[in-house]
Amino acid sequence: MNRNIRVRFAPSPTGPLHIGGIRTALYNYLFARKYEGSFILRIEDTDQARFVAGAEEYIFESLKWCNIKPDEGVEEGGPYGPYRQSDRRHIYNQYAEELVKHGFAYYAFDTAEELDKMRKYLEERHAANTSYNTSVRMKMKNSLTLSQNEVEQRISSGAPYVIRFKIPENEDIEVYDIIRGNIVFNTAVLDDKILYKSDGMPTYHLANVVDDYLMEISHVIRGEEWLSSLPLHVLLYRGFGWQERMPQFAHLPLILKPEGAGKLSKRDGDKLGFPVFPLEWKETETGEIFSGYRESGYLSEAVINLLAFLGWNPGAEQEIFSMEELIKSFSFDRVIKSGARFDPEKAKWFNHQYIMKMDNKRLSDLFMPYLTTKGIEAESIFVENVCGLVKERANFIMDIWKHSHFFFHAPEEYDKEVIKKRWKEDSPVQLQKIIELLQKTTPFEREVIERNIKDFISSNSLNFGQIMIALRLCLVGSSMGPELFDIMPLLGKDEVIRRIEVGINKISVLYEKGWV
Ligand code: GLU
Repeated sequence: MNRNIRVRFAPSPTGPLHIGGIRTALYNYLFARKYEGSFILRIEDTDQARFVAGAEEYIFESLKWCNIKPDEGVEEGGPYGPYRQSDRRHIYNQYAEELVKHGFAYYAFDTAEELDKMRKYLEERHAANTSYNTSVRMKMKNSLTLSQNEVEQRISSGAPYVIRFKIPENEDIEVYDIIRGNIVFNTAVLDDKILYKSDGMPTYHLANVVDDYLMEISHVIRGEEWLSSLPLHVLLYRGFGWQERMPQFAHLPLILKPEGAGKLSKRDGDKLGFPVFPLEWKETETGEIFSGYRESGYLSEAVINLLAFLGWNPGAEQEIFSMEELIKSFSFDRVIKSGARFDPEKAKWFNHQYIMKMDNKRLSDLFMPYLTTKGIEAESIFVENVCGLVKERANFIMDIWKHSHFFFHAPEEYDKEVIKKRWKEDSPVQLQKIIELLQKTTPFEREVIERNIKDFISSNSLNFGQIMIALRLCLVGSSMGPELFDIMPLLGKDEVIRRIEVGINKISVLYEKGWV
């Protein structure tokens, strides 16, 4: 293990993890595995107001489904634990106090009304930045404006206060991003963010930087939406005197809507017919259900492959990459800066590729639950063979049913259009002969059946296409499905003969009555 490379995925359990979050976890994981480093899962749950029950379990389950295994984390444990920030709450206060002591932060006592007044004051003056910042801080109630005595008195009397970072005035902060190169931020656009809240909890910024430092994180790989927090984080490293140990940063491109404009949002998926969450999620309050890749019949390998390609490409033709191949090929030089457009058709294509190459046993294990919901019990070897025959036609696991239902029950209806076009006066007589032929066909195997039927057709100068379609109508009920010579041995001799007998009667009735 490379002790120098330590990366973390640090989600907040404020709702279900979006596929963008999974992609962030994946890039962290690929990078850690490639350089034999450690991948850490840290739960950032300091914002208690935004805590959502079940969201943490959802994160664990999603990563497990995707086969992204943390080396250290809440469930795994590890030498830098605990890995859930609420379990580390006791450590942050001293760091906030240290910043105050060194003049990088200050106590602020302003009430909600006072803050409101401040905002109005700035709005009236059309200020570009209407938050608590360098231009207003000296007009507010804080330890920069109050006497030391008063500050001490307020604190000891238990008056609520927060600790705010003191942003330097008009300074250029230059920082290197692995994907974006050098970026310069001017502090004039920043505000004096709260680091520590009156509820005794740190905010994201403080806890995130302190933990990255304490957990010896070498690279911070996260979504572009965190880029605006970067100058504050750099200033925090500076305030703590940790510049030497500041991680390297890589801000990943946004995932954009299929039409290309705007960030892919929570509701886009179900509106446009594809999931944006790895697993199905039910909102507790509203009962609203958001579809998940797992429940929609996607294979996790396909999801990993398609997410890897949302913002990265290998610079080669190959598109199908296993996790191992991704680990080998992944590099930040090939991660794009601009947003990555989500293409639902491409997602389907990836899934189809994986279904086609998937081992029949695993496919049947995934398909079995669908059969169970339909009340069908079948032997697993039978289901495996069925999956093998139809997988080429399936984009999703449940598509297998669409292409294979006739294996599990005899047709109840017969396609009228096909009867109209392809059933002939003499079809029953010919099928009767086929029954006799099949009765004598042993072993009832593909090659033997095919040879016997083909010989029979040619020696009686019959029409191959006409016989086969009539036979297919009896066995399948329509003109769809894999080759008949593949279907028959799976159904077995008795069932095939039974279906032809039933078919002759029922289809003849339909045909004679002129219903078609
Ligand atoms: N807790 C932040 C989130 O929810 C982490 C951002 C970061 O990686 O710094 O994504």
